Formats: sequence, C-alpha cells, structure tokens
Amino acid sequence: MHFIDTHFHLDLWADPKSIIEEIEKNKIYTIAVTNTPSVFFHTYNLTEKSKYIRPALGFHPELVYQRKSELPLFLENLKKTRYIGEIGLDYGKQSTENKKEQKRVFEKIIGACSIHNDKVLTIHSRGSYKDVIDIIGNDFSNKVILHWYSGSLKELERAVEYGFYFSVNLPMTISLSGQKVIKSIPPQRVLTESDGPFAKYRGSPCSSLAIPIIINSLSQIYMETPEVCKNIVYRNFKRLLNN
Ligand SMILES: [Zn+2]
Repeated sequence: MHFIDTHFHLDLWADPKSIIEEIEKNKIYTIAVTNTPSVFFHTYNLTEKSKYIRPALGFHPELVYQRKSELPLFLENLKKTRYIGEIGLDYGKQSTENKKEQKRVFEKIIGACSIHNDKVLTIHSRGSYKDVIDIIGNDFSNKVILHWYSGSLKELERAVEYGFYFSVNLPMTISLSGQKVIKSIPPQRVLTESDGPFAKYRGSPCSSLAIPIIINSLSQIYMETPEVCKNIVYRNFKRLLNN
C-alpha cells in the first residue's frame, strides 16, 4: 500500500532530481502535471526511469489565452501519455474574451480525449466548476479527477453522479469551506494531492510529504485510523486505473 499524489508540479521545483529521489524513496505514486504542451517533454524525460512518477500532458487554463498556438502540440502529444493535466477552466479574474478562448480549448481537449478510454485527467475548475462539469458531461469515456474543488455542493453531487473523483490537498483540510467539500465527497471517490509548489502550508510549498498529513486529516473526518484512510485512497486510485 502506497501514498498517492495525483497532482504535483514536479517541474516547478528548483531541484526536481532530488524531489524525484524523495518520491522514489517514499514510494509515492505521483502524477507529475505540466502547465503547457511545450514543457511536457522536460518532465517526460525527467521521469522516464521513475517507478512511481508518471508525466501528464497539460495546458493550464490561466496560460491558454497567451499560448493558444500550442494547442496543436497538445493534440499531437496526446498519445505519449495516459495522464492529462493540468487542464480545465479558470474564471478567477479573466476577461470575457479570455474565458471564451479557455472554453474553446478545453472543449477541443475533451473532444480529443473522447476517442480514448484509458486517460486519467486532473482538472482545474476555479470559479468555473459548472462549465467544467457540463463540458465533460455524463458519458465521458475517461477518468476524471477534479483537483482542489471549491465549487458548490450541489454541483459536487452532480460530478459524483457522473463518476468523477476528487483530489484533496492540505489547504482544503484547513479551510472551513474545504472541509465542507471533503465531507461531501463519498469516501470511494476521494484521492490526495500535494499541488506543490502552488499549495502552501504554514508559508512553505507543499511537497509529497504533505500527503501523510492529508491522510491524518481524512482520518479525523472519517473517524477511521490513518492506515484505513491510506488504504481507501490507495484502492480508489487502483480502481480508477483498472476499470
Ligand atoms: Zn496545480
């Protein structure tokens, strides 16, 4: 049984090689997300020999507008990996034109993934969860993980009905709104993520070492031992990969 980190920005750390060593030593199954198609091969090469880390092809919604010319590169590389992310929509403080472009690109990516059935997607949905869930829909052929979900509980319920998973990070376990979200996720759909270095804990970026702390929080919420919670998350990840 291993720890699981389904959303980690390996390439944004100053010394990814020592981070890789740490992950291998601790045997943490990790999805190394990337933010643009042009940086994918950097992470692909870094993790080529890794037993525990898999590279994901991504196009971060906050970068889509400036980098829209990279969409063909994304589509071209789709066959290189089973893992997709970080992708999604961000309606934080973007202009209407920017949101429109994000939506167009996200729809294209989801459409391109639809011809496959073994992809695992880790998805950003800040302020945009309704559109994200609408665009993926109820009959998508791949596995969906909503990362750092902060939308309404009503839409969360719809995402559960659609079969989506949710990855929980350390800031979520600390904030009241995050705790409400965690309590609403059925235990058979919960996963863990560090989202380092974006997610922070006491001022420092979260590394994979955040995962055991998240498991401890889950154990308080579920009133189960950390060992049981670690096992729940591990089995969820196995099921996600195998069905
Ligand atoms: Zn992220």
